[in-house]
Amino acid sequence: MPKTDLKALSKQGLESFIRESGLPAFRTKQLLHWIYEKRAQSIDGITEFSKELRENFSKAAYISSLAILKRLTSEDGTEKFLFGLEDGESIESVLIPDKDRLTLCISSQVGCAMKCRFCLTGKMTLRRNLKAHEIADQIISAGRLIEPRKITNIVFMGMGEPLANFDEVVESLRRITGLLKISKRRITISTSGIAPKILELGGIGVPRVNLAISLNATTDEVRDRLMPVNKKYPLSSLLGACRRFPLEPGRRITFEYVLLEGVNDTMDDAKRLAKMLRDLPCKVNLIPFNQYEGSEFRRPPDETIARFQNILVDKHITAFVRKSKGQDILAACGQLKAGYC
Ligand code: SAH
Ligand code: SF4
Repeated sequence: MPKTDLKALSKQGLESFIRESGLPAFRTKQLLHWIYEKRAQSIDGITEFSKELRENFSKAAYISSLAILKRLTSEDGTEKFLFGLEDGESIESVLIPDKDRLTLCISSQVGCAMKCRFCLTGKMTLRRNLKAHEIADQIISAGRLIEPRKITNIVFMGMGEPLANFDEVVESLRRITGLLKISKRRITISTSGIAPKILELGGIGVPRVNLAISLNATTDEVRDRLMPVNKKYPLSSLLGACRRFPLEPGRRITFEYVLLEGVNDTMDDAKRLAKMLRDLPCKVNLIPFNQYEGSEFRRPPDETIARFQNILVDKHITAFVRKSKGQDILAACGQLKAGYC
């Protein structure tokens, strides 16, 4: 019989496994503590268990962990981790230090099927969905590697479209909030705009995390060209879902807007954007395009970026220009490809 991976089990799954193994219920609590807080990588590492228990337990179970294949550090302190999965696939996670925050940007899929034209991850297409424990394990494994520093925030902005892997992402949220004890206010899911799934994310029983939308255009014509998802869920349906998303008090939706020279960076775009968002509690993150080898787009000049931001601010829309971090190690937005293409 194949051994059971304890990390792949939900809290309830682990409870059943312990019961079926004929062990007392308090062992579940001990295991959860050792796997999620002490980051044990093997049953043998659980020193709270007697040698005999460890040996017996190891016959039926094991604790999987991501293999660290590569770790790169940028001049600005950003770090990129290349993690190997059990089936030989690999994914990237990026650690971004910023003042008192330490944000881990995690992946939800190996590759991505959404084919946004400006994004390098989109060019590698989808290889497979990640399981909930592979998503959560990026936090455990990176946390282990950076000890004694502590990860404070999580963004689902690495490889993949989180809402295209909905069930596993939601289960990973349960583990991240419930077992890794990271507050849902410090977690953000970013989506290219799968409108019905945005509504499901706001549904009952789903941890109410922050929502970010990769908007990137102000007309359906341009968005259709940049992001094929728009053909299925055009701006009206996307913004409709955003309006219906149940925000916690004081929370706002983040709209990400990658600025591409001559494509979506005109002053008319800025005005349309302000108009589109005026009735939504939101903020805008302007992301100047990060170039990569062979990219067909360019980053607009700084003056254009500043003018775009000023128009939004004049129209009372909170707007920031996101400084790209980790460009020298290809860790910036849209540059993750885990060595695939
Ligand atoms: N798939 C999700 C999560 C990935 S987040 C999503 O698209 O929202 C990746 C973010 O980086 C998105 O906001 C995307 O618009 C942005 N992005 C992609 N390629 C980029 C590039 N080359 N330069 C700057 N931002 C980019
Ligand atoms: Fe996928 Fe997001 Fe890249 Fe689009 S921007 S291809 S949805 S990862």
